[in-house]
Amino acid sequence: MRVHEAGALHADIGQHGPAWLREPDDVNLLLPQLWPGSVVRGADGVLRVGGIPVTDLAAEYGTPAYVVDEADLRSRAAAYRTAFSAAFPAGADVYYAGKSFLCKAVVRWIAEEGLNLDVCSGGELAVALAAGFDPARIGFHGNNKSLAELDRAVSAGVGRIIVDSFDEIERLATLAADRGVRAPVMVRVTVGVEAHTHEYIATAHEDQKFGFSLNRGRAGREGGDAAEAVRRVLAAPSLRLLGLHSHIGSQIYDAQGFEVSARRVLGLQAQIRDEHGIEPPELDLGGGFGIAYTTQDDPFEPVEIATALAGIVQHECTAYGLSVPRISVEPGRSISGPAAFTLYEVGTVKDVELDGGAVRRYVSVDGGMSDNIRTALYDASYSCTLASRLSDAPPALSRVVGKHCESGDIVVRDEFLPSDLAPGDLIAVPGTGAYTRSMANNYNHVPRPGVVAVADGTARVIVRAETEDDLLRLDVG
Ligand SMILES: *Cc1c(COP(=O)(O)O)cnc(C)c1O
Repeated sequence: MRVHEAGALHADIGQHGPAWLREPDDVNLLLPQLWPGSVVRGADGVLRVGGIPVTDLAAEYGTPAYVVDEADLRSRAAAYRTAFSAAFPAGADVYYAGKSFLCKAVVRWIAEEGLNLDVCSGGELAVALAAGFDPARIGFHGNNKSLAELDRAVSAGVGRIIVDSFDEIERLATLAADRGVRAPVMVRVTVGVEAHTHEYIATAHEDQKFGFSLNRGRAGREGGDAAEAVRRVLAAPSLRLLGLHSHIGSQIYDAQGFEVSARRVLGLQAQIRDEHGIEPPELDLGGGFGIAYTTQDDPFEPVEIATALAGIVQHECTAYGLSVPRISVEPGRSISGPAAFTLYEVGTVKDVELDGGAVRRYVSVDGGMSDNIRTALYDASYSCTLASRLSDAPPALSRVVGKHCESGDIVVRDEFLPSDLAPGDLIAVPGTGAYTRSMANNYNHVPRPGVVAVADGTARVIVRAETEDDLLRLDVG
């Protein structure tokens, strides 16, 4: 259904868009919760980021371009570190989830702001190490890490390897033994809570590829596969159990899911104490804190998340008679996502008449599903604004689409844009710092855009835009 949607008009949407989308009184107005901190619209109507007009950025670097507000990303990282240090006086660590957006500059910013780093592939590990990140502060995730990846992690001295299967425990134990080291390990637990968008589902059914089940397993005993994984880690002299790990999903807007997951995972912690006489020193509660893509989203501040999690962990530890382990969390999107926007140039504006006489306005931009696949992949909602001038034309419900040969190539499904929007105008889509460049692809042999970082009135390229030569370099004929 998603694939063929571009031509169809939802019956309930009509020309007003989805229920949450309000027609703005002033199309030029920016909603501060959607934009990086330094973005303002100047008196001339041009958006400015870090003091630089986006028209200058487009002229200098071309479009599409990802534009990152360095100070904004850093301040989000710092806010997490400060909030978690305050909420957990005994100590807490914030691991930035690199998969949301990783390049050497971001690795350095994260290091300078005092965060740790999560990677989930050899490639992400390579970027972190190339930027000089301390391996002891890296966590390595993945449900199918290759032997080569595990070996690199062990030999680099990665601080925690989050194990995800019995095969991996065995593989890692052998590898660490061969190298004569004790590899620090966390056991990824599936708590049966799946959080997404505005709700969470607590379910006994755990049909997904990540982690060890708390409820079921070969062992057929309380604690399921997760308890068995702990037994095997503890039995391997070359592995050192740091603790349990759970990650319940993405775009989470309340603490309920964490309450259930903390209760379940600390239940296993208590079982470990009873069975083995030890309390693993650490507990990782994962990431997934939501951000605002549109006016329908109302995200938590880091302080609210940290306070809520501290209350939950303290309460559950007291209930089980456990000491509070050192807590870690893994925010990705909520650090990198709101810090960036994508700048596009409008190429065509097409009004398509629909059954019943309604008209849908298609605004085509010079990128699309190759630089932001989230709308096509997850049915994600975005917002956008005319970025290169003011308009006093009335708003028109519009759909911003890309240039790819796919009708599902939608960037912003529904947004009110000025009705005088025209080719050559620039459009900015906020909230694209996470899972856009990191998921970018070369569909239709479209080169991936670069990333421009803006700070203190200066712009610089931190990831170069691809060229057709880059594409041809891989094509060995
Ligand atoms: C993806 C992921 C995260 C980060 O999720 P966000 O939604 O970007 O905060 C954290 N931990 C794990 C294990 C993940 O897979």
